[in-house]
Amino acid sequence: MAGRTLRIGGIEPFSTVDFPGRLATVLFCQGCPLKCGYCHNPGLIPADSGQSIGFAEALSALNARSGFIDAVVFSGGEPLAQSALRDAIDAVHALGLATALHTAGTAPGLFAALLDRLDWVGFDVKAPFDDYGPVTSVGAAGRKALQSLEHLLASGVAHEVRTTVWPDRIGTGELDRIAFALEQVGVSRFVLQECRGPDRSVWPGPSPLDDTVFMTELSSRFDEFEVRRAQN
Ligand code: SF4
Repeated sequence: MAGRTLRIGGIEPFSTVDFPGRLATVLFCQGCPLKCGYCHNPGLIPADSGQSIGFAEALSALNARSGFIDAVVFSGGEPLAQSALRDAIDAVHALGLATALHTAGTAPGLFAALLDRLDWVGFDVKAPFDDYGPVTSVGAAGRKALQSLEHLLASGVAHEVRTTVWPDRIGTGELDRIAFALEQVGVSRFVLQECRGPDRSVWPGPSPLDDTVFMTELSSRFDEFEVRRAQN
């Protein structure tokens, strides 16, 4: 089965925070076409680390947990970097489990083809769509992310749109531009995630998240708005 070729860089056996309302196993897919300056999982960026877990092994671990979990989250890395994702999702559904995807929307065509297989999507907007270079080192990724977001909104699949606030590159001006673009395409739920520092502790310096006046103004622009602080 082609899905068994999906390369997995790591597995979180039980998570209550990666798929709202579900107890899920998280599969961290190997490979990512972006190079976010704040990335805390650089080992997942190469297409093959040489230590990847095959999907057959992951599937057998999922089988062993059936009855304990009710969903699987495909996270990354960037799951859309592997076309084998489609068969992997189908294999998980065959176990009777719901599926979620964490993605930055790097492959709009594949994403559109997968949407009817997904029960929830956590969609990462890295920067203003016309200015992805400073955060991801891949300027063209912004156009693809916007295309993918439009596919998601048209699909009706449950989701949240979130931005990790990396204070070195994302200030209030960038957040205002992101929010404006999201309003234009009809996003209703927007989540800001606090970035961790290089040592994974809570960000050591000032952050736009501390600007309470701006946060209040931002929250008024969406039906649902949340600031998700990093936990120590
Ligand atoms: S999308 Fe995620 S895995 Fe890829 S570089 Fe950015 S933070 Fe790292």
